[in-house]
Amino acid sequence: MTVSTENKKTMARRISRVIRGMRATDGAGVELTRVIGQPALTMLDPFLLLDAFRSDKPEEYLAGFPPHPHRGFETVTYLLNGRMRHRDNAGHEGVIEAGGIQWMTAGRGIVHSEMPEQENGLLEGFQLWVNLPAAHKMDAPAYQEYPASHIPSETREGGVSLRVIAGTTSRNTRGPVVQPLTDPLYLDVKLPAGAEFVESTPSEHNAFVYVIHGPVVATDLQGDSVQLKRDDLGILARGDAVTLRSGGTETRFLVVAGKPLNEPVARGGPFVMNTRAEIEQAHRDYNQGRF
Ligand code: MN
Repeated sequence: MTVSTENKKTMARRISRVIRGMRATDGAGVELTRVIGQPALTMLDPFLLLDAFRSDKPEEYLAGFPPHPHRGFETVTYLLNGRMRHRDNAGHEGVIEAGGIQWMTAGRGIVHSEMPEQENGLLEGFQLWVNLPAAHKMDAPAYQEYPASHIPSETREGGVSLRVIAGTTSRNTRGPVVQPLTDPLYLDVKLPAGAEFVESTPSEHNAFVYVIHGPVVATDLQGDSVQLKRDDLGILARGDAVTLRSGGTETRFLVVAGKPLNEPVARGGPFVMNTRAEIEQAHRDYNQGRF
């Protein structure tokens, strides 16, 4: 479908696949839904993993993620509800609160823990892993951390509202997170019933929509209407604009896009490099205390 806007042709991104998350356990026994980084979707370059967690049962999250290493990519934690305490081996520590984002560049290596800062109530959020190119996998670790109050929101006609975590919208709202290597767009969008969200996305980026609560109505590659339910991920095929609609109820979803790196990926648990030899080196460096 092409539509002409101000003499500029835009190509709508259609839904090429719908992925259901897979129940998984990670850390010391945290129940989560693995959406990217599972057999149905091993990666969506530059995105290596997407975990969604949502539970009000303390036994499903209290164990948290005790100290563990990372090398070669970035971990992005976005909390909708609850509090998580983060602490690393370089002395960096803080609490991510509801509506806050932590964009951590693990680079050459970090050992950290991520533990719920609560003993009851709802813990809900996401962790996204974003790859780094070969030339930057061994960069020094770095953080971009912002509480909810530092994440700009945009209100549009028809009751459409969004929070802009990374990237710049077509209406020039700029998210606080900056990463030129993958040029990410990370939006948290709310639509009232019967509304439509249209946003441009760089045409060379890979992109997806993840439904927090739905349903979200979109168009598939055949031009048919497709409904995405809560916890569905829709891969947005190539194009330069996203069009998503609500049905008879309000909806909330993430729209995430990033520039693919098109490099070989070698994975070894918490390490993501380009070759097996680099993964083995990461294990040696970690085991010998060089992180
Ligand atoms: Mn971690």
